[in-house]
Amino acid sequence: MHADYDDIIDRTAATAKAWLHGFEERPIPPAERIGEVREQLGERLPEDGADPDAVLERLTGAVEPGLMGIQSSRFYGWVMGGTFPVALGADWLVSAWDQNAGMRDATPGVVGAEEVAGDWLLDLLGLPSTADVGFVTGATTANMVGLIAGRTQVLRAAGWDVNRDGLAGGPRIRFIAGAERHTSVDLAARYAGLGQPVTVPSDEQGRIRVDLLRETLAAGEGPAIVALQAGNLHSGAFDDFEGAIAVAHEAGAWVHVDGAFGLWAGAASRLRHLTSGYEAADSWATDAHKTLNVPYDCGIAIVADPVAMNGAFSIHAAYLPRPAEGFDPYEKVPEMSRRARGVPVWATLAWLGRHGVDALVQRLGDSAAALARGLAELPGVTILNDVVFTQVCLALDDDDEIAGLAAALQAEGSVFASPSRWRDRAVLRFSVSNWATDEIAVARTIAAVRTALTAVNPR
Ligand SMILES: *Cc1c(COP(=O)(O)O)cnc(C)c1O
Repeated sequence: MHADYDDIIDRTAATAKAWLHGFEERPIPPAERIGEVREQLGERLPEDGADPDAVLERLTGAVEPGLMGIQSSRFYGWVMGGTFPVALGADWLVSAWDQNAGMRDATPGVVGAEEVAGDWLLDLLGLPSTADVGFVTGATTANMVGLIAGRTQVLRAAGWDVNRDGLAGGPRIRFIAGAERHTSVDLAARYAGLGQPVTVPSDEQGRIRVDLLRETLAAGEGPAIVALQAGNLHSGAFDDFEGAIAVAHEAGAWVHVDGAFGLWAGAASRLRHLTSGYEAADSWATDAHKTLNVPYDCGIAIVADPVAMNGAFSIHAAYLPRPAEGFDPYEKVPEMSRRARGVPVWATLAWLGRHGVDALVQRLGDSAAALARGLAELPGVTILNDVVFTQVCLALDDDDEIAGLAAALQAEGSVFASPSRWRDRAVLRFSVSNWATDEIAVARTIAAVRTALTAVNPR
């Protein structure tokens, strides 16, 4: 039985190594489409099983041509990030150990590692050491955790127990967010029963207008939640936390910060000013699978008041032992059973240390700035945003040429950026989220964009 594992692990390690050695020079976009992958994996459930080696071989053969080179140093799509070797190693151990990370006393090994990782994160990010940390699948769920903790708390303050009585018939919560919030905030609000946000216009970099937030809050009354943003998807901009949180707290609102990739600016000495004042918020969401470059899935929900988090997510049953002290992990997040996804966070932080995290985040920002400078010199190119963090938005003189540029880059295959619209312009977004993006990658990127531009518009 143990030999079965040995064999599989050795073979899988060889397959993984081959992939990891090859992805940097392989074209970034997938070579095959989903239909081809599905066809090779089979339309129908097999009646009889197969040999595990044959299964894994078939899986690799069918899936690898359909893989996106997300780990490439020249992959800038959406906001993603790669995987550090140490994080990958820790993630494999999480699977091998197969612990259910829901309970402190049942699985103290992995819960201990996650709790230390949580304490380190609060320290690194400059957030209150008394806050509580929960590990979830991603920032969408982390946003939901913040909003549900906030919902429970603002309703309690209004004399309504949502856990007992539900939302229907209770006071309506005013949910307020900036016009350029990430769409996952809308999803999180939907799951939390808050409905569509009342939107406050943003400034030219996508930051919530604090003067208009004040007006919006003053125009109504009752329980309120305000969602702010650390790191705009297009511009990388950060809301004015000092101003916005003061205004929101004055009105008695709960303040949540979506910092899926941007919260990490708080860990970088020269970028920390961007997050100034964010420590006064009530909840925060971030991803370790983006800026920290650990494998998917790893979102992090942080709530300043542990009792508010626990009040929303805790439940007790006779078959679940109460921990000798503190709250169990399952009392902080929507999942009861889950993998110990915080363990790779501990390993990555232990490996990098405070200075290493600082250098990582700074390097992402420096690479984005260098990329923006180089791209801006190409004919017909304008960089639309102030590049304060890791996001670069490229526009062309003619909006209609953006799709062609994206397609030319994809066809060439060495650079991947995703098209979007921002400030009423067609743009190509470059998100520098991968630890491996360095000067060489940036120079190759600029050269590839230069070539692709001549294909789009031979001047
Ligand atoms: C990626 C992202 C999210 C959603 O995070 P997931 O991990 O995909 O759930 C939310 N907000 C911002 C700003 C993001 O970049």
